[in-house]
Amino acid sequence: MNTGLYVHIPFCQSKCYYCDFLSIADNSLEDVYVSALVEELKRYSRKVKRKINTIFIGGGTPTALSVNLLSKICEVIEDNFILDKDIEWTIEVNPGTLTKSHLQIIKNTSINRVSLGLQSSCNNLLKKIGRIHTFEDWENTINDLLGIGITNINTDLMFALPSQTLHDWKCTLARVSQYPITHISAYALILEKNTKLYNDYKNGLFLITSEDVDRQMYATAKEILSSYGFFQYEISNWAKNGYKCKHNILYWTLDEYIGVGLGASGYLNNIRYTNTDDLKKYIQGIDHGTDIIKEEDVITNKMSMEEFMFLGLRMIRGICKKDFKNRYGKNIEEIYGYEINKWKNEKALIENETNIYLTNFGIDISNTVFASFL
Ligand code: SF4
Repeated sequence: MNTGLYVHIPFCQSKCYYCDFLSIADNSLEDVYVSALVEELKRYSRKVKRKINTIFIGGGTPTALSVNLLSKICEVIEDNFILDKDIEWTIEVNPGTLTKSHLQIIKNTSINRVSLGLQSSCNNLLKKIGRIHTFEDWENTINDLLGIGITNINTDLMFALPSQTLHDWKCTLARVSQYPITHISAYALILEKNTKLYNDYKNGLFLITSEDVDRQMYATAKEILSSYGFFQYEISNWAKNGYKCKHNILYWTLDEYIGVGLGASGYLNNIRYTNTDDLKKYIQGIDHGTDIIKEEDVITNKMSMEEFMFLGLRMIRGICKKDFKNRYGKNIEEIYGYEINKWKNEKALIENETNIYLTNFGIDISNTVFASFL
């Protein structure tokens, strides 16, 4: 079993209009936050004596931190955890925020994968959703990363953006795919409450993309990305051969991981936990040795089976029936025979000798399929 480490940095230069992630556009507490984070990392390193196979420093924008603070976090990870020699260590980066000093940190540590949030190649759309960079910034960042030997690069894209046409989306997919990147994640915009875009929509400033166009955009992503050599391995993720994101696969296959930082979630010794999302509480809690965990659940066998199903079905290869038997000591049909047959009859699932996986139609209605296993 692999073990991961997720580190949350909750700071951003400014807030994107669609974003409801745990991030703030105010760095004033970054020093004390990083001191607390470093302490939490050290505590876990003493408690969890396992080899770490994947690390993901995400946020927020990790590169919004001062260089010395980011460097400190990397140093503490390297000095205190046992890192696998083939570790996949990702850092999230906003195009246009990487300075020479950041590049130096990446070069001097075991970081070997960078995830860039681009979203679109159309600069007018980037402006509309409150991104702080242009497409050209992304191009320059790719060149900078290649220049220091980082060749494993993901790019996040979004579709169904306000006023985005199918043509815009095709153009983004084709332009981005031509660059020497290894991985693309593509998600439809979800209008979350308490975001600027949600309020703009409620105030009638734009129309949401119809379900039909949304599905056409998704189908177009499948088509164009595969024509450029990216194969789809999860509902929203495509990779060149050998470059699937190991850290995400760890989540979908129920492997365990440590979550460190504000609002971070972890899964350790069969317990899922989530840290407080209150910045001051987090900092003071670590400082005074009081509890910073907001939620904690012991994962029962039933909960684990449910997660195995709905997380496993996110992957294009689906669920391995033998893995289910090995993990739970029961045949999958014994537990989920009714649901599996129902969705097979509806042409949403396919079952072969070894696996069960979603059809294209099943992907379109995946949330309904997943809910039936809960
Ligand atoms: S950079 Fe990412 S985390 Fe920060 S505001 Fe934008 S979407 Fe949210």
